Amino acid sequence: MQGTLENLTMQIAQVVPCTEAEGPGKRFAVWFQGCPLRCPGCCNPEFLPFKGGQTKTLCEMAAWMARAKEENGVEGITLMGGEPFAHVAAALALARASRQLGLSVMVFSGYTIEELRERAEPDVAGLIAATDILVDGPYVREQPDAERRWIGSRNQRIHFLTARYSYDEQWRQKNTLEIRVDKDGITVNGFPAADAVGLWKGFSKPWTRKKALPTVAPRGAEHRTAVPPTQPPEHGSSDGEG
Ligand code: SF4
Repeated sequence: MQGTLENLTMQIAQVVPCTEAEGPGKRFAVWFQGCPLRCPGCCNPEFLPFKGGQTKTLCEMAAWMARAKEENGVEGITLMGGEPFAHVAAALALARASRQLGLSVMVFSGYTIEELRERAEPDVAGLIAATDILVDGPYVREQPDAERRWIGSRNQRIHFLTARYSYDEQWRQKNTLEIRVDKDGITVNGFPAADAVGLWKGFSKPWTRKKALPTVAPRGAEHRTAVPPTQPPEHGSSDGEG
């Protein structure tokens, strides 16, 4: 991320303007390019380097979010990675823009909320304050979560930081995988069943993510933590990674 708010830019790995596989309801999903963590089994290894992705302005992203709300009826945005807190100024700007549009904010982070609250940067506290749902903690491959939708491993916690959401029935449904095919290639997001992991990579050779992100014309909370059910879920698979 660079620049003042007016000319703020950010490195974006992928955007899915309307998905039901990255949190409650229809959501505008954003994957940042770059993560300093290295969870074994990370499903988005191509999103780990800080080099790459597409450079987008805050203005472009805000306009895109507004269009997704208008055209697709999205109710919120989901920020993933990459690691949103490694792009905290950009993530905070997107979260605030989302709130100005009346959209909710969900964030997946590989850091725990305790680790984040120890950080002194005002933007970190600002992003937590602008977040409705925080899924925290690293993805642990050995602890796959089969019970909580959208969550990768059982160690990860769901923090409901505002009253807008709660651990309702939709969190207990099966995970879904979305596959999109268009002229730019194939995009995959969501959590597949364990026995379907990697299947989509056989659909297309070579398998590619979108080559370019479309350009759009600029046009106190209560803190509740969902305790994992007796069994397992995440963080990760162009999925709810951190
Ligand atoms: S699972 Fe998330 S936090 Fe962990 S290395 Fe992958 S992107 Fe980073």
